[in-house]
Amino acid sequence: MKNKRRIEVLNEKIDDLCKGYDDIPWGKNEYLAQDKEKFELIYKEIKKIKKQEQKYSCCYCNVSLIESHEMIIDVEHILPKSIFNRMTFVLDNLSISCKRCNMGIKNDDLSFFNKNKSEFEKINDEKKVGLSSDYKIIHPNLDNIYTYVHREEISIDGFKLTLFKLNSNGKGKYHKSYFQLGEITRSCLDAIQGIEPRKNYLRASSIDLLKGDDGLVHR
Ligand SMILES: [Zn+2]
Repeated sequence: MKNKRRIEVLNEKIDDLCKGYDDIPWGKNEYLAQDKEKFELIYKEIKKIKKQEQKYSCCYCNVSLIESHEMIIDVEHILPKSIFNRMTFVLDNLSISCKRCNMGIKNDDLSFFNKNKSEFEKINDEKKVGLSSDYKIIHPNLDNIYTYVHREEISIDGFKLTLFKLNSNGKGKYHKSYFQLGEITRSCLDAIQGIEPRKNYLRASSIDLLKGDDGLVHR
């Protein structure tokens, strides 16, 4: 099926799913039992479309997801669905990312968004992602990541070294710092030197999200 038609069919399915709800539920558990399966199928379809669009790589750190298990590829909501519930199925607000960038770093944080809290309700109601300049980070659908950042992987004596080259200032610099891409390079260098790579990129807020029912952090 051509992509345009696929998206039309998908949007019809989404409209059908959301019918009968006062507001758009953003999480699986907010749907009635009989709709949960539909919800999951729609998410699967979104993932398929976005994986292709994103060339099977994380929209933020550009790591290849080709060999990744489905479970560790997230449908990423650039404006978080927990705050912008009506953007849950807005394709321009969606992409795919790795768990490090999504759950480890970004989560529900909005410090990268150049809009005031007072405008959130209107944005949510209108379901509009806005302009590239509304985002300090490289937006997966409004920007081209390769204009700003290039991920390169080289092999040294069997060790992989990941480097990020900035093509220009502006968003690339902020994006690299926000997603702590330099930490990836530093961890590679640690590994080459026989030091256990650091994994100190988790934001404080994300640790709570990773806590299981037992209160322990599961990564
Ligand atoms: Zn990533």
